[in-house]
Amino acid sequence: MIPEGSLLVAESLHKAYGPTPALDGAHFSIHAGEVVAVMGPSGSGKSTLLHCLAGIVPPDSGTIRYRGRELTGLSDRERSLLRRTEFGFVFQFGQLVPELTCTENVALPLRLAGRARKPAEATARQWMERLEVDDIGRKRPGEISGGQGQRVAVARALVTSPRVLFADEPTGALDSLNGERVMELLTDAARSSGAAVVLVTHEARVAAYSDREVVVRDGRSRGLEYTG
Ligand code: ADP
Repeated sequence: MIPEGSLLVAESLHKAYGPTPALDGAHFSIHAGEVVAVMGPSGSGKSTLLHCLAGIVPPDSGTIRYRGRELTGLSDRERSLLRRTEFGFVFQFGQLVPELTCTENVALPLRLAGRARKPAEATARQWMERLEVDDIGRKRPGEISGGQGQRVAVARALVTSPRVLFADEPTGALDSLNGERVMELLTDAARSSGAAVVLVTHEARVAAYSDREVVVRDGRSRGLEYTG
């Protein structure tokens, strides 16, 4: 059963890379403002599910609806516009631009959308304050720690106020203390801005920050409601 009022819904997703099945009938749904952890062992299809949901990789079959619109029916151009305007992304390694300062990195999505430098950087600084990295705005990615880098990456992902934040192992390269701080700040910032979060992780302590868990095994997903 697909819950009513879902923001993003996927049904019966199949995806194979040559002879290797990555998704084999996966289902998924998320509400506005919900934080859902996608869990499961390595190679079970978690990243492929995230890439399909985000319109990066087309599934071989199945449907994905975002706010009632069928994603697979959109042109490449429409899908890329949707990704830029409605979605934010955080990956395991922040993928910050090394030549830019942290503030310039966070402001970059706004600059690419045509916003002038001053207002873009003012908005960037507000997000950096929320992620507690406003003190390193003038530094470049090579001069900061891994935990700071991921918080800058989260600020950059949220700066356009996306409706969905996709995070693929966002703390995978951090020690547990830094990882927990990043998760705390990421989920607080997303919840206060009303963004839904699709969080791929294989770590239970990271998934504990979510409202609900979905477990993927051999490309099939199963939802688990948190009872506590
Ligand atoms: P997880 O994120 O759970 O580790 P993935 O979605 O990355 O799992 O991978 C699922 C399966 O699909 C694995 O067997 C993986 O090797 C395969 N796979 C994923 N991406 C590709 C790709 N680009 N080319 C070939 N095989 C891939």
